[in-house]
Amino acid sequence: MAYYILSWAWMFFLHDTYFYWIHRLMHHPKLYRSVHLIHHKSTNPSPWTAYAFHPFEAFLEALIAPLIAFTLPVHISSFGLFFLFQIIYNVYGHLGFELYPKKFHKTLIGKWINTSVAHNLHHKKFNGNYGLYFLFWDRIMGTVREDYNTTFEKSTSKNTNN
Ligand SMILES: [Zn+2]
Ligand SMILES: [Zn+2]
Repeated sequence: MAYYILSWAWMFFLHDTYFYWIHRLMHHPKLYRSVHLIHHKSTNPSPWTAYAFHPFEAFLEALIAPLIAFTLPVHISSFGLFFLFQIIYNVYGHLGFELYPKKFHKTLIGKWINTSVAHNLHHKKFNGNYGLYFLFWDRIMGTVREDYNTTFEKSTSKNTNN
């Protein structure tokens, strides 16, 4: 059981790291115009945006599966559940509505978690907030957008259920 849980921690770390760096690479002007631009045609994304991208970007994204399989033995159910979770989190990231509560971005954990507001800003402003599940690469590399905190506060201020 402990290994099962630890394998998830590894998959989260590896996928987030892989995604952050290929995402930044795809923002290189040459790759951006020919590949990543299709995903960025949604300036106000919806859940459908999560899987709207160039076939080459799909290929790059899919490489995470062999990368996980060849770096750590994971149980097939763990592997399957992880990919189901990443689909759900990807849809949440493009929801255009924040599900985390008010002030979550300032909590000890929330500071390091990627949110729908963060990714929505990435689509609106075209740079910054490159992470997938976490913000730690963005925080380490200084790519968290400066308007993230204020936008998070504005976006969650009308959530009466939070
Ligand atoms: Zn992008
Ligand atoms: Zn996106």
